[in-house]
Amino acid sequence: MIIHRPFTATYCREQRRPFIPPATEDQFSTETIDWYAVERAIKGEDPRPELTPDELREAAIWLRRHGMPRIVVSTHLCVYERRIKEWEADAGMLGPDDLCTRGDCKRARAGRGLCTTHLEADRKWRRAVAEVLAVAA
Ligand SMILES: [Zn+2]
Repeated sequence: MIIHRPFTATYCREQRRPFIPPATEDQFSTETIDWYAVERAIKGEDPRPELTPDELREAAIWLRRHGMPRIVVSTHLCVYERRIKEWEADAGMLGPDDLCTRGDCKRARAGRGLCTTHLEADRKWRRAVAEVLAVAA
C-alpha cells in the first residue's frame, strides 16, 4: 500500500542532504540549467523530470562529489557509467590512474590506458598494420 504524504514544510525538513545550487558560474559551464529539475532528480522524486544533458551532468557530478558510487548514479539517472566517468574527468575529479595516458589528453580512461577516442584510433591502427603485414607476407 502506498501512503501519499502531503508535501509540507515538516516533510521538507526531513530531507537529509540539502541541495544547494552552485553560487558562482565559473564552477559550472552553463546558465541554462533548471536547478529545480536537477534537485528533483537528485532526490529521486516522482515523477522524475525530463533532464537536458547539461542537467543530467550536473546531477551526476553532484551525486559523485557526495560519495554516491558511480554504478548507483548510473542506475539512478539512467546514464552510462562511462559517460559519468567522462564528466568526472572534465570536472577534474579523476586521478592520473583514471585518465588517458596518450599525450596530454585529459579524458577518462576506457581501456588499455586510453580514452574511447584513442582506444578506437589504436584499434584502427593495429588493424591497418595487421593488413599491411598480411599483404607483405
Ligand atoms: Zn585520450
